Amino acid sequence: MKNPQSKKTTKNWTIKDSNDYYNIDKWGHKYFCINDQGNISVASAENSNKKIDLYQLIQEIKSRKVNPPLIIRFNDILKDRIKDLNNSFEKAITTYSYKNVYQGVFPIKCNQQKNLVEKIIKYGSEWNFGLEVGSKSELIIGLSNLKNENSLLICNGYKDNNYIEMAILARKLGKKPIIVIEQREEVKRIIEVAKKLGSTPLIGIRSKLSSKSIGRWSKSVGEKSKFGLSAPEIMLTIQDLKKVDLLKELKLLHFHIGSQISDIKIIKDALQEASQIFVELAKLGAPMEFLDVGGGLGIDYDGSKTSSDNSTNYSLQNYANDVVATIKDSCDQNNVKHPVIITESGRSITSHCSVLIFNILGKSNENYKIDVSELIESSLIIKNLIETLNQLKLSSEKDLDLAKIIELWNDAKKFKEDSFNGFRLGFASLQERALAEKIHWACAKEIANIIEIEGIEHSDLKDINKILASTYYANFSIFQSTPDTWAINQVFPIIPIHRHKEKPLINATFADLTCDSDGKLNSFINNGNIKTLLKLHELIDNQEYYIGIFLAGAYQEALGNLHNLFGNTNIIHIDINQNNSYKISDMIKEDSKTDVLKVFDYKSDDLVEMIRLKIESAISNGTLTIEESQKLLAQIETSLRNSTYLSS
Ligand SMILES: *Cc1c(COP(=O)(O)O)cnc(C)c1O
Repeated sequence: MKNPQSKKTTKNWTIKDSNDYYNIDKWGHKYFCINDQGNISVASAENSNKKIDLYQLIQEIKSRKVNPPLIIRFNDILKDRIKDLNNSFEKAITTYSYKNVYQGVFPIKCNQQKNLVEKIIKYGSEWNFGLEVGSKSELIIGLSNLKNENSLLICNGYKDNNYIEMAILARKLGKKPIIVIEQREEVKRIIEVAKKLGSTPLIGIRSKLSSKSIGRWSKSVGEKSKFGLSAPEIMLTIQDLKKVDLLKELKLLHFHIGSQISDIKIIKDALQEASQIFVELAKLGAPMEFLDVGGGLGIDYDGSKTSSDNSTNYSLQNYANDVVATIKDSCDQNNVKHPVIITESGRSITSHCSVLIFNILGKSNENYKIDVSELIESSLIIKNLIETLNQLKLSSEKDLDLAKIIELWNDAKKFKEDSFNGFRLGFASLQERALAEKIHWACAKEIANIIEIEGIEHSDLKDINKILASTYYANFSIFQSTPDTWAINQVFPIIPIHRHKEKPLINATFADLTCDSDGKLNSFINNGNIKTLLKLHELIDNQEYYIGIFLAGAYQEALGNLHNLFGNTNIIHIDINQNNSYKISDMIKEDSKTDVLKVFDYKSDDLVEMIRLKIESAISNGTLTIEESQKLLAQIETSLRNSTYLSS
């Protein structure tokens, strides 16, 4: 198989080649592209002249003494995502002459960050956008922050009496909370609390669906799923509510079939089943007003438009059309009034607006130089290896003989193994083993040059790039910033922020700061597939190399943890103005070491005091001078106030 890009030399590499390699125009949507300077440019919306050079922005943020790792959130993109979602539904409603409205809610669990939630509430208000909460803490955020009286507050999750009481009383506050029954137990509780308070809640039912789902979250549907009521349970619930005259408050049906649903067929099947349940509930006497289709609206992480895990085979508009058309069909066939359509899309709203930026601290695997003086008096194995290397050098000058190259590569591997066995059994020295490894590496390098120039991909030579690959040491923690890459093998678009006019020559993976061997990034988007190596640029002395992880605004912050005590990163919100200018609207400072230590119950003052006592003993023993002790204490005290990450 030939790969056209590898034919490109360093000289004739263009921005377009970079675009093709990193696939930016596919996953970047209307927001990200490469500008004429070869830097990533961020736009607020399609064809907008509100654009900003991300590389320049990072440098200016750094001048404000705010260092990577850093999350940059673009308010304009968040606003545009909310607008697109609402516009798509409005368009579908017009197209299908649907006789009611769309009214979405944002599921707080997707990203609970205050500054972000506040902006979603603000931007969504013109569409009466609301919130979905799944716990009492989230409910309190919803009660305090939601301002628009028409916005819905969907109350999901398991509920105790306290949760239900808060939700019922919130109705009197002028809010529109809807308590969604997830478990049979909750029916009893709702009836009990309503009686006690002499006040009734708006009620919804979450239904378990039997339609099949696929992918990572396929277990969130089906008869054995964790949430929702089965058909018999729904029937019992209706009887219970009827008995206490609460059926008149049952107005909503909810379902949720998991996140990042990549295949539209799955969504359609679920919608059909749910619409059918909806009309049945109406026929049973519930004054049904809302159909809440949950989350699951996926985003195209790799831009391949396929039903693979990291993509979707549908657009936002396809989704809205299918939701509206399916619900309309079922209602019309059964003479049931069209409901208000609710979605609980989280991922689709918050993913695009956030970019995680980290800098590279260094890289492994320097080019080995073979010193000729080392070669004198070497063993047969070394001689064989050198002979192999020489033949490879010759073959790169002659016409390409692929079979010969594969044979030579197999020889090189065999000789290296011989050398290692010799070492293990005590016949070869460490120096000799090191030399064998270096020549083996040089053989791989020689072949890599040939296959790179010829654009060859051959399965017998697959290991070459891996052997030559470099590890780039990244100044961040995947456990804090991209936990899903570790937990569920999620892949995000990861690309350099600048230098896109230069050909990236180095095959690489990333290692993060944690002392955990899982703390690495070695899966990259590849147009519907995964690749294990990413081409990056050679590091330049005294110049930072910045990498961005894109589309990472959903779930990562909520799930991030303090592994090795690396804390929250800096977060900056940006408003993009005309002419490449911008305004920082919010700045959320990163955790200091004191902050993260406090989480585990360590008090900085106590720690300093314990160290001070040790210092005093050392001074009295004469192992430390007073001057040295002051330096040490000052270092520790300053460090506690500062970043958990490495400074450059
Ligand atoms: C997590 C969750 C969502 C959000 O799903 P996305 O795929 O992020 O849109 C919506 N509703 C419920 C009930 C959820 O649990």
